[in-house]
Amino acid sequence: MNIVLMGLPGAGKGTQADKIVEKYGTPHISTGDMFRAAISEGTELGVKAKSYMDQGALVPDEVTIGIVRERLSKPDCEKGFLLDGFPRTVPQAEALDGLLSDLGRSIEYVLNVEVEKDELVARLTGRRICKECGTSYHLQFNPSKVEGKCDKDGGELYQRADDNPETVINRLEVNMTQTAPLLSYYDGKGVLTNIDGQQDIDKVFVDLDAILQKNN
Ligand SMILES: [Zn+2]
Repeated sequence: MNIVLMGLPGAGKGTQADKIVEKYGTPHISTGDMFRAAISEGTELGVKAKSYMDQGALVPDEVTIGIVRERLSKPDCEKGFLLDGFPRTVPQAEALDGLLSDLGRSIEYVLNVEVEKDELVARLTGRRICKECGTSYHLQFNPSKVEGKCDKDGGELYQRADDNPETVINRLEVNMTQTAPLLSYYDGKGVLTNIDGQQDIDKVFVDLDAILQKNN
């Protein structure tokens, strides 16, 4: 099964990816892992990608797509793969369709884990970190026993600058604007399914798994 997993930051996409991998043994291919592997293996494309990253520049699509092609051609992807974080744009999705078609394959499932913006903001701004030991808490999901204090050492808990509401809302809006055309693209191809990500984590997976089971 060839899957693209989508979802905004905080939607719980990573957790669902883990569950898919656990059940089906499908290789989980995230953009970050793919780049790190190509760079550490010193492939030609990996070297190219690194030269852009070292300059703090965006890696051009042709390099990224080349790395994706190399990764998806590996034997562990023969029975399927789970792409996470790629594609990000319609041109990337088109390039992906092109390279899969060369390999005699196609994307079968695009699973979009949907969570409302207000809920995402609550999830993403709730993180608190201990100043002393760096332990991470969450106001809603993993609160400390005493508010504002670390369970381990009583250290003061603080919110990272990245987690403040303004930054979080901005990040979400940029993401939504970016992914809307991609969702339309896959919807047009009839492979998109939206999954309600506001349910219990296990129920989200039940829904997601039902989609994967239906056509197999
Ligand atoms: Zn602590």
